[in-house]
Amino acid sequence: MNIDQSVALYKEAEEHIVGGVNSPSRAYKGVGGGTPIFMEKAEGAYFWDVDGNKYIDYLGAYGPIIAGHAHPHIAKAIAESAYNGVLYGTPTKLENRFAKMLKEAIPSMEKVRFVNSGTEAVMTTIRVARAYTNRTKVIKFSGCYHGHSDLVLVAAGSGPATLGTPDSAGIPKSIAQEVITVPFNDVESFREAIEVHGEDVAAVLVEPIVGNFGIVEPKPGFLQEVNDIAHDAGALVIYDEVITAFRFTYGSAQDLVGVEPDMTALGKIIGGGLPIGAYGGRVDIMEQVAPLGPAYQAGTMAGNPASIASGIACLEVLKEEGTYEKLDKLGAMLENGILDHARTYALPVKVNRLKGALTVYFTDTEIENYEQAEASNGDMFSRFFHLMLQEGINLAPSKFEAWFLTIAHTEEDIQETLKAVEKSFKTLANELR
Ligand code: PMP
Repeated sequence: MNIDQSVALYKEAEEHIVGGVNSPSRAYKGVGGGTPIFMEKAEGAYFWDVDGNKYIDYLGAYGPIIAGHAHPHIAKAIAESAYNGVLYGTPTKLENRFAKMLKEAIPSMEKVRFVNSGTEAVMTTIRVARAYTNRTKVIKFSGCYHGHSDLVLVAAGSGPATLGTPDSAGIPKSIAQEVITVPFNDVESFREAIEVHGEDVAAVLVEPIVGNFGIVEPKPGFLQEVNDIAHDAGALVIYDEVITAFRFTYGSAQDLVGVEPDMTALGKIIGGGLPIGAYGGRVDIMEQVAPLGPAYQAGTMAGNPASIASGIACLEVLKEEGTYEKLDKLGAMLENGILDHARTYALPVKVNRLKGALTVYFTDTEIENYEQAEASNGDMFSRFFHLMLQEGINLAPSKFEAWFLTIAHTEEDIQETLKAVEKSFKTLANELR
């Protein structure tokens, strides 16, 4: 495969843009390096790069692209909104309509507020929870990513009762000390953290179905226990549904796990591909937010007509009958095919899948938490990633990311992908001998 133009553009990008990319994972650091492919056009399930190569895409722009690239209904809504003026700085009718759509789909969000990214949405839920509880600490689960605000870029301490250390330079230790990180799916560690810090804990931040160390579902009862233990200690529960909302069902992961949080953060899919975030929750909590309450949050671009129009159009597409059944069917085909080929070539592969999202781990262990995902074989994944790319399959460049199907993918696309999987597994198995 010729990628000369990508090589040249990456060189140029490195001169002007830090690291050549505008988000770190795009630099392929997570897969041992290489030249990031510069894409030029995307339509349906496909990408075309600047050298004219075609790819089947499973990155889905890290989640938002569930309707497929350049979906005509969404594209039309964005175009119309552009001709109507892209930014007003005033309230608009569309915001009301979209807020109502979200509330109907996610009833625990009694009041909502639109922001511009998942990072902003999560960051603000924490501020509001702190305002509401008059406490400062936050408990999160290891390996869960909640955006790049200071407080959530904190790694686990050495045990459930210890405080975190910053995951990034530039985060004061004093901030990291406000965060406690415990393993996902481990009620006892969570209980212990609450016992030690309970009176200071403002909120527990949860990806109810994890998307950030691959797709990992909660064990039965885990989230109910987290809710009960947190509430007994006077802490709020915040669900970060930036990845999960509208991914598995028309609504949220709350529907699937049967537990309601106090607040929810959204992003990705609800913008149909344009920048957006939203947060919401119980009325008495949300009334902490300015202009009603003392917790400040604002945004020049918040609720902008283009993102809102795009989000409404995306949800309209998803609401059509059969969306999630189709994603599930394609997902199952892909999962079964991958596992079959892994057996044929005797490779240690586990697939975690829910509907149209799956993760392929190179390991013999079932993956239930970050520690297990982290222990899966990154070198094998990296090799697999590059082999698949050569076959025209665009995956996320990280062993922790999901493959995201869209409603634009077809059974033929899956068959073609599985041929690439077989070829890549064969090469991997030969190289391992
Ligand atoms: N929360 C979760 C669960 C996420 O996966 C992400 C992004 N991958 C974020 C928050 C941050 O969203 P954004 O990149 O839009 O700021």
